Amino acid sequence: MSVIHILQAELELTGPGAVAAPEAHTVPSALRPDLPLARDGWGNPHLPATSLTGSLRHHTPQHRRQALFGDIVKTTGSSPRNTRDETTAIASTVRVLGTRLTLPDAPVTERRRTAIDRHRAAAKATTLHDRELLPPGTELTLWLRIDTTTTASPLIDEVIELLADWRPRIGGGRTTGYGRAELITVHHRAIDLTTPDGLHHWLTTGGPALIDGHATVVHDRAQRQGGAPDEPYLFGTALHFRIADALHIGTGTSAERPGRQSGLTQILRDHDNTPIIPGSSWKGVLRARVEFILRSTGIGDVCASVEDATSGSCGTCVVCETFGWSERPGPAANNTEPPKTVGARGRLLLADSPVRGGEVRIRNHVAIDRVFGGARDEALYTEETVEDGHLTLHLRHDKPVADLIRAALILALTDLADGVTGIGGGTTRGYGTLTAEPATADWLSAEHTWAVTTLRAHLDTTSSVSTPATQEAPA
Ligand SMILES: [Zn+2]
Repeated sequence: MSVIHILQAELELTGPGAVAAPEAHTVPSALRPDLPLARDGWGNPHLPATSLTGSLRHHTPQHRRQALFGDIVKTTGSSPRNTRDETTAIASTVRVLGTRLTLPDAPVTERRRTAIDRHRAAAKATTLHDRELLPPGTELTLWLRIDTTTTASPLIDEVIELLADWRPRIGGGRTTGYGRAELITVHHRAIDLTTPDGLHHWLTTGGPALIDGHATVVHDRAQRQGGAPDEPYLFGTALHFRIADALHIGTGTSAERPGRQSGLTQILRDHDNTPIIPGSSWKGVLRARVEFILRSTGIGDVCASVEDATSGSCGTCVVCETFGWSERPGPAANNTEPPKTVGARGRLLLADSPVRGGEVRIRNHVAIDRVFGGARDEALYTEETVEDGHLTLHLRHDKPVADLIRAALILALTDLADGVTGIGGGTTRGYGTLTAEPATADWLSAEHTWAVTTLRAHLDTTSSVSTPATQEAPA
């Protein structure tokens, strides 16, 4: 162990990132977000190295994980006198020294979200929460140390290769598009302790200064034509939509307007001030519609993930498996044992969709007095809407998705394109209707037959054992 290799990897967030602090699980207050960013002792956003190590370890091929990143091995005592289970820790060859976050010239933002009650079509009580987000463009530096016996080692090449096609995803909210990052550069500095120079460098410097002028660039994003490829699209392509009327996805806050009594209900914008449909809205709308299709046709035993206080996501049905679920499980859909774990991440990844070419307008609304027929006092409210824009839905997956869900998603997207269901606020007032762009409309009608056939095939196999349990009112 005479050569110390230091690798410095620089990453950049390509979208907002959400690295929640452990104290996020305490009681929220009005002054603090429910899911604050993890911060160091000086109040600067901080990313624990463990967050990245886990992602890098997961990216390592299965058979090399133990050799590179250590493991905990459970063994059963083999001798007759000792039959107790023992755990043996295997130390990690790659040591993660630390991380540093460099924020761009953009503020940390907050995003508020809630769940929608499927019957009332209004926000569900006790589900509102805020999350602090790192801005896109945030740079993240990660230092790794590997000790070897020689200057040139296949181990170093292996780790560099591993980093080069790593698709780092940082922090929480992966399935709603948070934490996407790209590797920019990797610097390598070999410190040979058998040479005077190496020893001098090792003994007289420390921390980030260990990467000095002798370090070599072993990976550069500019030379590799982009980083590792993204997760595959679920349907092989992105889907394009246009806003048919107007769209309002609120931030949950309103801006004061000087000289006016009522505030302005603002729409959600990204860091470039472009109106967006957040990944979480796509996920909510698509999940609700998929659940509705599967339940009302009686095909699958699927739960109503957001309904009333007594029910919740079951954690066992095919929708929970695909979209993920969290604790507070309701009764299982098919009256089986409740699940043992507290939640699981979904298989679908939905990113934010910026609305391009749209126009932001301010609309006034007022309630009408039912007795006098005129505008009611103090019932005027004003909200921003975005009209006439076009947008792209990036629907990706990182694990296999069942054909049943694919088929239901195609029908759900068709409903969205036909204006049967809308997205965002005020859908009963004509907001939130989308139409498909020609290419997407053609694709949807081409896939429609397959989707219906697939659902019908499932119905034939399940109809002998179960009947439609619940009749739902039309959405
Ligand atoms: Zn479920």
